[in-house]
Amino acid sequence: EPLIIAIDGPSGSGKSSTSRGVARKLGLAYLDTGAMYRAAAWLVAERTLDDPAAVIDAIATTPMDIALDPAAFAISVDGTDVTEAIREPRISASVSKVSTIQAVRDILIARQRELIAGADGGIVVEGRDITTVVAPDAQVRVLLVADPAARIARRQAELGGRADHAQVTDQVIRRDADDSTVAAFTEAAPGVTVVDSTHLTLDQVIDRICGMAPV
Ligand code: C5P
Repeated sequence: EPLIIAIDGPSGSGKSSTSRGVARKLGLAYLDTGAMYRAAAWLVAERTLDDPAAVIDAIATTPMDIALDPAAFAISVDGTDVTEAIREPRISASVSKVSTIQAVRDILIARQRELIAGADGGIVVEGRDITTVVAPDAQVRVLLVADPAARIARRQAELGGRADHAQVTDQVIRRDADDSTVAAFTEAAPGVTVVDSTHLTLDQVIDRICGMAPV
């Protein structure tokens, strides 16, 4: 059985850095499911789609290619490299709307399960519904949480001074609210271990999760 490590958490919990770090340390593949929802939101914006049926059809029929290497992340939509574009604030602001369409989730969840099944050497998968829906049978299931103040500070650091504190605060709080219909990420499902990163360094969080993997 290839090792599957599922990591869920809200934005700014340190989920991406942690997941990549765990994958590198244990020599596993890495899947960022948030990037897939962002790529779907990018496609919707690029084609200025509004009607839900058109949105679902475009996402179902447009090829998406995501790299599973924790050291070299990349994602493309229909051959266009969108690795950087999907991090733009306009995408962060619109992704929740696309990700609450259940048919969109069904399409992306099916693709995520295929990618996981193809990862013979094991994989770390991060997102919002990985421990509960996408891979509830994962050997390691973690809900990564952090106090809002810590998450806001991290998001701001990620943006490298390009945004002001009030704006970042607003964005983090708003996305928590927008995503709250999709997944409960303040409460862990049965069997899921909560790791609070508020007072831990990145290395400490990575070590803690690596320590949960069966040897
Ligand atoms: O992880 P990240 O912040 O990049 O995710 C972007 C958005 O994608 C989330 O705000 C959420 O709306 C959506 N998402 C989701 N289910 C996942 C991963 C992400 O709905 N498994």
